[in-house]
Amino acid sequence: MPKHLAQPEKTKRKPVIDFSAKEIRIPEKKQKKKAKSHASKTEDAFQTAMLNKTLDRKFSLSELVLALLALVLLVVVYFLPTSGLVRLLSFLVPFLLAGYSYLFEAFQEAFMGIVLGRELIVSVASLMAFCAGSYGGGAAVMIFLKLSDMALAYVEMMQAEKVAALYSLRSDKANLVKDNGVSVVKADGLKRDQVIELYAGDVVPTDGTVIDGTSVLDASALVGGSLSFPVAAGSRAISGCVNATAPIRVRVEAEQKDSVCSTVLRAAENSWMHKSSQERLIQKVISYATPALVIAAFLLAIVPSISTGDWRTWLARAAVILTVSQLYSVVQSVKLVYDCAAVYGSARGIVFKGHDVLEALSRAETLVFDKTGTVTEGKYRVKDVFPKGVSESQLLFLAGAAELSSIHPIARAIVAASGAYASDVKVLDVEETPGRGICAFIDGRNVYVGNAAMMEEHGVEYDMPSVPGSAIHVAIDGRYIGHIIVDDALRDGAFDAIEELRMSGAKTSVLLTGDVHSSARKIASVLNFDLVKAELSPEEKCKAVEYLMSNRNVNTTLAFVGDGICDTEVLKCATVGIAMGCFDKPEAVEVSDVAILGEDIHQLPKAYQIAERSAGAAFLNTVVCGAVKLLIAIFGAAGVFGLLFAALLQCAAVLFEAINALRILNYEETRQKPRIKWRKGRQKNERSDESFI
Ligand code: ADP
Ligand code: MG
Repeated sequence: MPKHLAQPEKTKRKPVIDFSAKEIRIPEKKQKKKAKSHASKTEDAFQTAMLNKTLDRKFSLSELVLALLALVLLVVVYFLPTSGLVRLLSFLVPFLLAGYSYLFEAFQEAFMGIVLGRELIVSVASLMAFCAGSYGGGAAVMIFLKLSDMALAYVEMMQAEKVAALYSLRSDKANLVKDNGVSVVKADGLKRDQVIELYAGDVVPTDGTVIDGTSVLDASALVGGSLSFPVAAGSRAISGCVNATAPIRVRVEAEQKDSVCSTVLRAAENSWMHKSSQERLIQKVISYATPALVIAAFLLAIVPSISTGDWRTWLARAAVILTVSQLYSVVQSVKLVYDCAAVYGSARGIVFKGHDVLEALSRAETLVFDKTGTVTEGKYRVKDVFPKGVSESQLLFLAGAAELSSIHPIARAIVAASGAYASDVKVLDVEETPGRGICAFIDGRNVYVGNAAMMEEHGVEYDMPSVPGSAIHVAIDGRYIGHIIVDDALRDGAFDAIEELRMSGAKTSVLLTGDVHSSARKIASVLNFDLVKAELSPEEKCKAVEYLMSNRNVNTTLAFVGDGICDTEVLKCATVGIAMGCFDKPEAVEVSDVAILGEDIHQLPKAYQIAERSAGAAFLNTVVCGAVKLLIAIFGAAGVFGLLFAALLQCAAVLFEAINALRILNYEETRQKPRIKWRKGRQKNERSDESFI
């Protein structure tokens, strides 16, 4: 690791709600979905504060040792043949050893009027047990609570370690080039258009453009797989990449907080703020169940005691119900799992923007793919040039000049083949139409470069291409001057990845593209897509996605996979928008729900499997934790379970949750081998506009 890299930022969760979540841009549509009334926001804020309070415990070996010591002492004093005051005092020792901090917090909660505070409830429960003569139960509540908290804090610590490793991707220092030399400055103070110097081994601190030098940038740590690429003057320098070989100078184009790397880190850290529907539902249940259980516990302590006079028995039973009433551990059990999944993904270049995203992706049965840059490489090559009335090089040059500013893969291919970079041609009034092409004012003439739809829009008569591939037509001032055939290759491993997705539960696969029918059909039949629709504008893709969403099975969702170029609107309108290969596209990282930073298409089934695994584990945790609480409440009230056994059982449930979450965090990947099963081409499923959109 380069020396100048600073220590990772403190990664511990903030103890109270941090509404800086506003920093995360939620697409307008989704904002609407997430809009809440002020009342429910306040309720949510309280619950989040409570939840974070309970999770704001640091794992500490000394505390764990203390809790274990208290447990041993409890066992010893339990079997000691003591009685009366000596017995009470001997139980108070393990009770205080494990519970002194909870008692202190309980006082604080009581002082602040937080009557449903976890520590207050638990402290009251154990004091009730002591009053009822159940000394073992009273001490056990504190000891097992401490052990549970340590287990949860351990998982949090493991997560924090992984997040800290992610932070090493963000350099906090930069070598700023000034008139009088180079000086080291804080990277978060860099401004647009400043020039920085990067030596071999340096991490790119923020996004920019290389203006001097040639080198290789290594993005492996960022994307979670091997990825490096050469850079020279004009290439983009992406934050989080390591400058691998020689010094380069970079012109800053984004402040560090807006860089790709910061967006990724922010998303990884803040995913917990977007709760899954499961968490929201449990929180809602809790907001009624906790006060109800507390009231029930007090009624159980008072009413039967008055009628029977046996207040000790009922006080002990009421204490059991009180310990069950602090239900935040049920939400914690879900939160923990999704947090672990988000951190696990981020460390592998897969950024999940929220727990809700993981949950929704796990239920995705319809997968819709944009063609370019997702199932294909998105690296077009010029295959053929068919000039009309101009020379081949003139046609290429004009097209290349018009495309100079575009980041579309077709534009890059034409520019690379045209030599327009090296010229000083004046290109004005550039206007790019997504899904169509580009027009520009060059040397006093309007140049149009795009597909057939673009030519038709401008009333230009064009030739039908005679060779396979995508035809990009060129016209000057309404006069057709020929077309360029470009071709893109299928991504390595695309077939395996799509099959893997099917094996994981994706039932319907759909290909949407703005490209021509012939290219779309070829790809769709190789990859066995169920539906294919070509020559679509981005708006039509949105309509297609909305149509598919409205026709999906209940309880399932739709995920759209795009590359972030010309499809950001579609990414926003799908339930789950997945952007692929977006380590150099900050906008795609920003608008997507899942950002796959690297180019490896196998990341896609991996993302799907992470989501499925976490949703399964979250469900299991809820069932186990909820069932244990319910059992204790029923059998505790009936007098079958004593407080000691109830506390032990709840601790066991929390340990189970923690282990389940750790399994997600430390999952060892063994990729499922897809069955090689070639199906016949799916041209029959290509539907007409009328039936599909
Ligand atoms: P896809 O749906 O495969 O991702 P796009 O929506 O990005 O493709 O583009 C659809 C079609 O629009 C392309 O196949 C091309 O014909 C045309 N097109 C889009 N942008 C450009 C451009 N900058 N130059 C030329 N043609 C373009
Ligand atoms: Mg696209």
